[in-house]
Amino acid sequence: MPDWKPVTPTSSSSLGAGPALDTLLRVSARHDRVTHVEHVPARQSAQVEWPDWVEERLVTRWANQGIPGLWPHQAEAAELVRRGQNVIIATGTASGKSLAYLVPALTSVLDGGTILYLTPTKALAADQLRALRDLDLPELRAATYDGDTPYEERLWVRKHANYVLTNPDMLHRSLLPRHAQWAAFWRRLRMVVVDECHGYRGVFGSHVAQILRRLRRVCARHGSRPVFLLSSATASEPGAFAERLTGLQTAEVTVDGSPRGATTFALWEPPLTELRGERGAPLRRPATLESADLLADLVAADVRTLAFVRSRRAAESVALTARARLQDLVLGAGAPTDLPDKVAAYRAGYLAEDRRSLEKAFRSGELAGLATTNALELGVDVSGLDAVLIAGWPGTRASLWQQAGRAGRAGRDALAVLIARDDPLDTYLVHHPEALFGRPVEAIVLDPGNPYVLGPHLCAAAAEIPLTRDDLEIFGEGTKEVLADLVADGLLRERATGWFWTRRERATDLADIRGAGGPAVQVVEASTGRLLGTVDEASAHTAVHTGAVYVHRGETFLVEELDLDAGVALVEEGSPDYTTFARDVTDISVLESLHSHPLGPGELHFGSVEVTRQVVSYLKRRVQSGESLGDEPLELPARTLRTRAVWWTLPASATASLAQEGLDLGGAAHAAEHASIGLLPLFATCDRWDIGGVSTELHPDTGLLTVFVYDGHEGGAGFAERGYARAVDWLTATREAILACECERGCPSCIQSPKCGNGNDPLDKAGALRLLAVLLSPAPSLEGSACEGSTPEPSV
Ligand SMILES: [Zn+2]
Ligand SMILES: [Zn+2]
Repeated sequence: MPDWKPVTPTSSSSLGAGPALDTLLRVSARHDRVTHVEHVPARQSAQVEWPDWVEERLVTRWANQGIPGLWPHQAEAAELVRRGQNVIIATGTASGKSLAYLVPALTSVLDGGTILYLTPTKALAADQLRALRDLDLPELRAATYDGDTPYEERLWVRKHANYVLTNPDMLHRSLLPRHAQWAAFWRRLRMVVVDECHGYRGVFGSHVAQILRRLRRVCARHGSRPVFLLSSATASEPGAFAERLTGLQTAEVTVDGSPRGATTFALWEPPLTELRGERGAPLRRPATLESADLLADLVAADVRTLAFVRSRRAAESVALTARARLQDLVLGAGAPTDLPDKVAAYRAGYLAEDRRSLEKAFRSGELAGLATTNALELGVDVSGLDAVLIAGWPGTRASLWQQAGRAGRAGRDALAVLIARDDPLDTYLVHHPEALFGRPVEAIVLDPGNPYVLGPHLCAAAAEIPLTRDDLEIFGEGTKEVLADLVADGLLRERATGWFWTRRERATDLADIRGAGGPAVQVVEASTGRLLGTVDEASAHTAVHTGAVYVHRGETFLVEELDLDAGVALVEEGSPDYTTFARDVTDISVLESLHSHPLGPGELHFGSVEVTRQVVSYLKRRVQSGESLGDEPLELPARTLRTRAVWWTLPASATASLAQEGLDLGGAAHAAEHASIGLLPLFATCDRWDIGGVSTELHPDTGLLTVFVYDGHEGGAGFAERGYARAVDWLTATREAILACECERGCPSCIQSPKCGNGNDPLDKAGALRLLAVLLSPAPSLEGSACEGSTPEPSV
C-alpha cells in the first residue's frame, strides 16, 4: 500500500495547494499513484543588522535597491570571511548567497584590495557584472575577463580592474600562465569567490581543484594569501568538499535563514501498463505522458502550472498532449472552446520576443499551463504560480528546489509534484521521502589526486614558477610519484633546485579540463557545417555513435555518421519518435585493492582497476510509451581505461544456500549491479552515465561472486570512492528501490538498465533482494557456534 497521508493545511491561509491536489485526485484511479504528501511549512525569518565594519555608503546603496539588511546566514558568512576564515555557504536557491560575498568583497575593494570571482559560466559572470555596476561605486572597477574579452580591453583589465570576473578555463589558460602581467592584481588580492561551486565535481572538479592550487601558489609568489569564499547548492558535507576543492580548511554555513512560502509536495509514481518491454518486462507509464494529463487537469481547473521536462522535444510533446486532452474536454463536457489554447511550450530555442510574449500571456492568465525544459532558461517573471510538475528526478536536490521554487504566491500554498520516471533512483525517491525532505545525503565529489589530472597541472605549475620541494605538499599525496613519471617521460626536468618545464609548447595544453582526456570529437551539423560542440572520445562512443539521437541544448539531432579517425560526428536536426541508449560490454581486472573491510559475510573493496569496454549496439525506445524498438548493432573499437572502482564479494559459503534454492546467482548479482548503479547518484552528485559496472558469479581476480561499480573516467572521479564510504547506506537504498517496485520479475524502474550490453539477461529480481540481504546482514561471528550456512535468513 502506498504511504498515503492526507494533506493537512497548517494555517487558514493555505488554500491553494489543497484544492490543486484534490483536482488531480478527482480521478480515483490516481489515488494509488501518490506515494507521499509532504507539507513544507513556510519559513519566517528576520533580518539582522549590517555588521559595523560595512561602510555607510554600501549600506545606503543596498537599501536603495530594496535590501534593508542581511539574513542570518549571509551575516555569518560575511563575518567569517572578514575574519580571514575560508567559508563555504551551502544554502538553498534564492537564499541570497551573493550578498554574503559582496559585503566583504566590496569592503575590501573600498579598502584598496582586489577580488577574483570565478564562475563556471560566462552568463553568470555577466549577471554579476551588471549587479556590480548597478551599485555605481566610483572605486569599483569591475570587469569580466573571458574568451570574448577583446584584446584592447584585456590590457585595461590587467592594469586597472580591481574586481575581475572570470572562469576556471581562463584562469588555467591565461591568468596563471601570464601571472607576471597580473602582478599588481595578485599582490592586492584579498578574496577569491568560487560561485556555484557544486558544478566542480568529478573529473572537471578535480581539474579545478588543481587550478586553485596553482592559483594559491601564484598568489604566494606575489605576496598575497586571499580568503576563499565558496557558494554552493545544498549538499552533504560541504566543508569536506570545499577542502578537497581548495586544499584549505573551510568553515561551513548551511542554515538557510531566508524566508520562503509554504509548499505541498506530492510524490507521484505512474502505474505499470500493459505494454511490454525487453524480456517481457512491464513498462511504467512515461513521466511525460503522466505530466501532460496532470497539466491538462490543472489548467482545466484554472490552476496556473509549469511542467518541467528534460528536453525541448519533450516540452513540445507534453504541451501537445495536454492540448489534445483539453480538446477532448471541450468536445465532451462543453468546456470553453479556448481552453486548449491556454497551454504552450516554452523553451530556450525560441526567439527572445516570442518568449517575452509567452511570459506576458502567462502573467495575464491568457495562458495557464507551460511545459518547459529548465528553470534557468525561464524568464525571471515566470514565478508566482500555483503548481509545478516535475517529470522525473532532475538529478540534484538543488535543481528540484529550483524548479519547485517557481510555485508560490503570497498567502497561498504552492503545489509541487515530482513524477517518477522508470528508473531505480526515481522509484527509490518516491518511496523514500526522507531522502528528499530530510538531511541531504548527496555529496559533491572529486578526486584531485587523480594522476591523469595532477600530471598536466604539475607541468603547468612548473611552467608558471619552477616547482620546489616545498611545493609538494600543496598538490597533495602522490605528487612525488607523478613528478617522477613526468621526468621519466621527458616532460619535466629535475635539477638540484626542483622541477622545470623546458619544452617549447604551452604546458597548459596538456590539460583538457572540460574533457576526460583523449582527442575530442567535433559534433558538426552536416548540412550547414555548423560546429555544435565537442565531446571527448570516451563519451563519443556512447553519445554520438552512428544512429544516436543526440540532444544538444534541448534540440534533437540524429547522428548520421561517427568518424573516429577524422574525429567528427555528423549530425542533422530531426525529431525521431524514439530515443537511443548505447549498450556496452565490459571486462574488468583488479590492479590493486587500496582499502577493504568486511561487509556481512563478504568483503568490500576500493581500488584501481583496468576496464575494457566496447559499445556493441544501441537500443531504440519509443518516446511516447518507452516501448523497445529493438537493438541496432554497432562496430566500435574497445576502449581500455585505468580507473577506480568499488566492489563487493560474497564467499561461496554465503551463497550456497541461495543456489540450492534455485536462485540464479549470476542473474542476482547482475540485477543488484544495475540497481546499485542507478542509486549511486543519490550519494554522489553524478549521472548514471558517469559510472559503469560489472558483475559475475565468479571473477577470476577475486575467485568469488563479485559486483564492481567503477568511475567511467580515466584515473577515477571520486564517485566509486563515495560508494565505498557510504556502502551500507547505498546498498540498503539499492535493495529498497528493488523492493519498492511492484513488478514481478524486474523492469526498467528497478533492475533493468537501458545501457546493458547483455540485453538485460540474465536478471533475477528475487535473487538480487536475497543477495543484498545476505550482504547487509551482520557478519557471522568468528568463534562459537557460527559455521557455514548459519547466515541469518534474510527477510524479503
Ligand atoms: Zn520493477
Ligand atoms: Zn547489465
